[in-house]
Amino acid sequence: PVLRVAIMGLGGYGTMVAEAMRACVKAKLTGVISGTPAKIKDWQSRFSIPEKNCYNYENFDQIKDNKDIDVVYITTPNALHHDQVIRVAAAGKHVICEKPMALNAREGMEMVAACKKANVQLLVGYRMHFEPKTLEIIRMRKSGDFGKILFFQGLCGFRIGDPNQWRLNKQLAGGGSLMDIGIYAINGSRYMVGEEPVWVTAQETKTDLVKFKEGVDETIQFQLGFPGGAVASCLSTYNMNNLDRFFLNGEKGFAELQPSTGYGPIKGRTNKGELTHPHVTHQTVQMEEMAGIILEGKQPVVPVNGEEGVKDLKIIDAIYQAVKTGGKVDLSL
Ligand code: NAD
Repeated sequence: PVLRVAIMGLGGYGTMVAEAMRACVKAKLTGVISGTPAKIKDWQSRFSIPEKNCYNYENFDQIKDNKDIDVVYITTPNALHHDQVIRVAAAGKHVICEKPMALNAREGMEMVAACKKANVQLLVGYRMHFEPKTLEIIRMRKSGDFGKILFFQGLCGFRIGDPNQWRLNKQLAGGGSLMDIGIYAINGSRYMVGEEPVWVTAQETKTDLVKFKEGVDETIQFQLGFPGGAVASCLSTYNMNNLDRFFLNGEKGFAELQPSTGYGPIKGRTNKGELTHPHVTHQTVQMEEMAGIILEGKQPVVPVNGEEGVKDLKIIDAIYQAVKTGGKVDLSL
């Protein structure tokens, strides 16, 4: 069987997912949800989507009667994810929701509960969780190649452009760089170290108070402590380019990814040498694997379900709290 996907929000990333899915065997784009009729027309002709599989933000609840759509993939701005996921679940369809899954852990938990109640699956669009070099490092760590893990570093940043975009609007983005790209260092630290952090500290710096308004973070450095004694040191920023690096260090070895989360080929090496797994478009692999999860009950190496998304949101909540208080926030509860 093939996973039949409708994309909600036909913007930059939705387009990337749709194009990547052309190469999928197990997933196929069959529907669209958009508020812009001209975009729907364009997508219909580019992807051969029939009129009956096109919806807008007013009528998409009717998707419940559509037998040609199994899952809705939500690629709208962050603040819309919560309500949209809950509406899709109520329509009885599985949901893939882009990261960050929601604006905070409370919203995330409501989404998980709504999907559970509707008996549909909720997955988060975490493409790195399926990336071959990333998975190889996780395999090596699990098999003890790096020994006891002591340290992780995650650097995520780019210089953001247009000051009027939704990413710099607190109402639509929910925050700043941390929500958007710092999240890669957060879940990267979790899957690289292989433990859940028990405390967090964080510091914010802002150089441009006009571009980065109240509630929109420009640069946050944060530190995580893990139960086994490992620590992580991370940087999330909208104000520096060439920041895309993961580093994992253990008593017996190390792993390095740079670039670590960009769309293009990931480059990696460990103390044992270069990682040579061929590059495959991240979203193609992701959608193949997600089809396996939804249709065949396949268990991914690194979970991508709603509960996993909530774990990241709890850490995001704690980082913002640590920035505010300047203190250490306990995550072990
Ligand atoms: P975008 O601005 O290019 O696209 C957003 C789309 O949502 C647009 O088509 C816009 O018209 C639509 N939209 C619907 N309702 C809207 C409203 N009320 N206000 C504004 N736009 C509205 O943004 P994007 O870069 O595609 O990001 C979309 C989502 O995808 C975000 O949650 C982002 O974090 C996520 N994303 C994930 C990755 C990844 O690698 N996993 C990469 C980029 C973006």
